[in-house]
Amino acid sequence: MAEVKSFSRHRKTCPYCSDKGFKIDYKDVKQLSRFITERGKMVPSRVSATCAKHQRELSKAIKRARILALLPFVSND
Ligand SMILES: [Zn+2]
Repeated sequence: MAEVKSFSRHRKTCPYCSDKGFKIDYKDVKQLSRFITERGKMVPSRVSATCAKHQRELSKAIKRARILALLPFVSND
């Protein structure tokens, strides 16, 4: 499993819990792309350090973005 470079900072807290101004927005492709691999799969929470609650919201946002064709669908997931 490939590590995501942007998460290599030694932080184990959820980025959404630690930063109140950091909101999950399905229209923010740049932000969402930090949580998906280059193949379009979602980065596991243990890598991205997002808590279960925000991981769930993130996956909803990513699904929504895919429906709106903002993000690519995964071909074999
Ligand atoms: Zn959180």
